[in-house]
Amino acid sequence: MTLQVRAQVSLKPFNSFGIDVRARLFAEAHSDADVREALACAAAQALPLLVIGGGSNLLLTQDISALVLRMATQGIRVLHDDGVHVVVEAEAGEAWHPFVLWTLAQGFCGLENLSLIPGTVGAAPMQNIGAYGVEIKDVFAGLTALDRQTGELREFTLQECNFAYRDSLFKHETGRWLILRVRFALSRASHLKLDYGPVQQRLAGQGITEATPSDVSRAICSIRSEKLPDPAVLGNAGSFFKNPLVPEALAEKLRARYPDLVAYPQADGQMKLAAGWLIDKAGWKGFRDGDAGVHKLQALVLVNYGGATGQDIANLARCIQRDISERFEVELEMEPNQY
Ligand code: FAD
Ligand code: NAP
Repeated sequence: MTLQVRAQVSLKPFNSFGIDVRARLFAEAHSDADVREALACAAAQALPLLVIGGGSNLLLTQDISALVLRMATQGIRVLHDDGVHVVVEAEAGEAWHPFVLWTLAQGFCGLENLSLIPGTVGAAPMQNIGAYGVEIKDVFAGLTALDRQTGELREFTLQECNFAYRDSLFKHETGRWLILRVRFALSRASHLKLDYGPVQQRLAGQGITEATPSDVSRAICSIRSEKLPDPAVLGNAGSFFKNPLVPEALAEKLRARYPDLVAYPQADGQMKLAAGWLIDKAGWKGFRDGDAGVHKLQALVLVNYGGATGQDIANLARCIQRDISERFEVELEMEPNQY
């Protein structure tokens, strides 16, 4: 099937903030051939190509003068299974959470802490998605990307991806790598990571002492559903700011003023502060200006009550950043990708 390219398409259904901007051209890729055709089409129109997945980590602040290509490629396959270690490969357009559930249904452990994260498999390496103490770097077995500059396929190992906290090589070399499929090293043996208090508490509350990976997944789904706004109901892109890493001396100075400061020591000696705690402490939780606001249950999540523009959200974000900088001497960095 040849690529269906449409002009002047509203991106409202394709970004979880529900921001209504238009793409000059829009298409969906169902195969590698579609991806190559889209690149050729964009080049012929002298337009850039912007690849998106589920649109759950985007802040769209203007009409997009590009060919927006939504990855819709499907396919999951087991590449290796020795009875304990398993390698699974999934196409970029596979929806992330159903993929996690599929791995759990096969008895594969490793992705349970990353349950209920919106978006696609192909976008997951972009910011090395993470939750409840697990990041995809912990289960990463490689990926295949298309080099948009040369048209060649390239295989990436774990080391080559430069994964870090909400960061990767792909986030820095934007516009170069189009991720086609990702591989994960999972296990039939259970190696659960239960460091985060709320997960332990939820399992204990359910009377579960010997948790399975599916128990952990269900516990995390229930915690997340209670705490995070559903983008289908209230537009948002999850955490709007990264948790800041600060020198220990600053964390100590802040703790002297705020004994309830939430801070976690890092391996490199820095301290990770909870951005949500800082924003809450500064009084922003539940704040609303027009249709842009700060979620009432989770101060780290900016929301669109319906008619906010991307600029409205960006303006609110700037006000919060300025206030946090003045109050705490901490610079907050935005997490979603702004276009
Ligand atoms: P998109 O938003 O479509 O794209 C994100 C970026 O990746 C863009 O720059 C895009 O150009 C690029 N991109 C997309 N696909 C490809 C590809 N195939 N090749 C190359 N580049 C590509 N994130 C976490 O890390 N942890 C969480 O716990 C978490 N919870 C969330 C909860 C909610 C309610 C929401 C709304 C978001 C949450 N997020 C979380 C953020 C988001 O879900 C993830 O970052 C997710 O991986 C984004 O996937 P996507 O397909 O929606 O990407
Ligand atoms: P939370 O449990 O209220 O904790 C607040 C912050 O403290 C988190 O951001 C987390 O950092 C950190 N934290 C908590 N326990 C920790 C521990 N034992 N060790 C180290 N750090 C710890 O957080 P939440 O907002 O409800 O989110 C729960 C998890 O889902 C977090 O991991 C969060 O990153 C993830 N999440 C991410 C997004 C997103 O869009 N990126 C959206 C929703 C939830 P970390 O964030 O570094 O884990």
